[in-house]
Amino acid sequence: MINQEGKGLFALCKFNKGDVIFEERPLVCAQFLWNQAYGYLACDYCMRPLETAEENVRRLTGIPGLILPYPECCATKKDEYIECPYCEVSYCSYSCREQAWEQYHQVLCTSSLIGNTKHPLDQLQDAWREMHYPPETASIMLIARMIATVKQAKDKGGAAHLFSQFCHKTRSKNGDISHKLLGKQFQAQVEHLRQLIIKGLQDEDLLPWFTADGFRSLIALVGTNGQGIGTR
Ligand SMILES: [Zn+2]
Ligand SMILES: [Zn+2]
Repeated sequence: MINQEGKGLFALCKFNKGDVIFEERPLVCAQFLWNQAYGYLACDYCMRPLETAEENVRRLTGIPGLILPYPECCATKKDEYIECPYCEVSYCSYSCREQAWEQYHQVLCTSSLIGNTKHPLDQLQDAWREMHYPPETASIMLIARMIATVKQAKDKGGAAHLFSQFCHKTRSKNGDISHKLLGKQFQAQVEHLRQLIIKGLQDEDLLPWFTADGFRSLIALVGTNGQGIGTR
């Protein structure tokens, strides 16, 4: 049984309503791209909202003058927001900006844009949005962040192994995004994504991830993990 199944959690005691039974911090996470395109402002590292509850409700209802009661309950702290000095990405705090920079943003910062050509990583996001309309269940940026994390890691082999163990456990199930994207009719689109990833992030130490098969297993991985992968 152990050899056939992936990872799992099993309850060994009873829980009460409201108990926190599990918390995890993902190895990488990313906001859904349409969610971002529709104006939901979130920290690029931890995904905490960058808009207040009131702003959120006003945007979603389209009622600009709407007032929410109990503003003191809103946890959003706008005075701590900070941007990447080189691109337009925003964070909820200095700490998130530092952690993103240390983990993957040095590689992913699109400030290296030369002339008017769109950065390959921006092209990648456009291509993904065209392939995967809402409701969204995954983001291609998880793959970009995994690759960038390995590229920036001091121990590249160790970082690659950490992610690879998730790839091996991934199976596509009927109806999920990986199953849909790995179908024959999407082959050309998946290949297009792979070429853009190669253009933006190719790395000699990660060649197996950039092969057609390797890339498909990464797509299956993000397809089954939504907005975040793994725990620290
Ligand atoms: Zn944050
Ligand atoms: Zn940046």
